[in-house]
Amino acid sequence: MKIPFVSFEPMHREVDAELKNALLSVYEAGWFIRGERVTQFEQEFAAYCGAKYCIGCGNGLDALFLILKAYGIGAGDEVIVPSHTFIATALAVTYAGAVPVFVEPDMESYTLNPARIEKAVTPYTKAIIAVQLYGQAADMDAINAIAKKHGLKVIEDAAQAHGALYKNKRIGNLADAAGFSFYPGKNLGAFGDGGAVVTSDKELADKVRALANYGSDYKYHHIYQGNNSRLDEIQAAVLSIKLKNLDRWNENRRKTAQKYLTEIKNEKLILPVEMPYNSHVWHIFAVRTKERDRLETYLNENGIGTTIHYPTAIHRQKAYENLGLLEGSYPLAEEIAATELSIPMYYGMTGEQIKYVIDTLNRWR
Ligand SMILES: *Cc1c(COP(=O)(O)O)cnc(C)c1O
Repeated sequence: MKIPFVSFEPMHREVDAELKNALLSVYEAGWFIRGERVTQFEQEFAAYCGAKYCIGCGNGLDALFLILKAYGIGAGDEVIVPSHTFIATALAVTYAGAVPVFVEPDMESYTLNPARIEKAVTPYTKAIIAVQLYGQAADMDAINAIAKKHGLKVIEDAAQAHGALYKNKRIGNLADAAGFSFYPGKNLGAFGDGGAVVTSDKELADKVRALANYGSDYKYHHIYQGNNSRLDEIQAAVLSIKLKNLDRWNENRRKTAQKYLTEIKNEKLILPVEMPYNSHVWHIFAVRTKERDRLETYLNENGIGTTIHYPTAIHRQKAYENLGLLEGSYPLAEEIAATELSIPMYYGMTGEQIKYVIDTLNRWR
């Protein structure tokens, strides 16, 4: 049996006609940027997250960068980010001109460990970016409490967790602002790049909206040295259709994860943990083992697609050699990088496929 790491096919098949009609309607309307479909999606997504404002933008990296820039965070400032995340979290900080300060994860949830944050706070710290990693939220109450004590902004990197809940509250509405990505492979994915900033802070929302559109508040009137980062009508039309189905699609991932968690039984594997305060949306199902590379080869040889999230910790990437962070600086991030393997997880996996993945993993010696 062949099981890809990810497939959009079951999801897209269900809304095939709706998607095709939407694409055609954008083409026929002949209006591609800053139109009514973007406005509509922004309203829908803000409401879905329980926040007041949503501003579409070009991608998830830009969403995080625009939030930092709108808060005036840049040269001379420090921003706390997890040592274990996708590199975009750190890139947003350096793109803004600030310095990323890494904090190690909690080894159960793999999200930012609040107990380690305070040691990293300095007089230059301006914000914390908490990543809702693999599909579940970090411990936001604890993180917000530390931020409040030190006067820091808290930004959610929500790129992997559309629809996840923390203490029954939707992510995207758990801090000062959130950055989302709609990269095709995310739980809510477009047909290209896309992103959004979600916040209930009107001042921030107005500033992000202007920054993302050349720094202009109205046409040819520029109040900031802005950027060009916009969601387009095609992506917005696709996202509106998918948003209506997101909870159901996430619920299906949760069922698959539940089966994995109860039926994968192999002492060599460390399975992921859904923290008791979370409703996880399983963007990624991450297993860990000391013999990761051997497991990867074994699964691939048995027709099962896998990916590593992520093979090199950010502080060990060539892009950040200027930070001078040697091997061993962030041992937990390095350990995850050396042991993590993501197994197939997507909407619409069949019972037979799920069983095959489980049986293949249980047979591994
Ligand atoms: C995907 C991702 C991003 C970046 O989103 P893009 O739309 O690809 O720019 C940022 N942070 C995390 C954690 C991500 O997974």
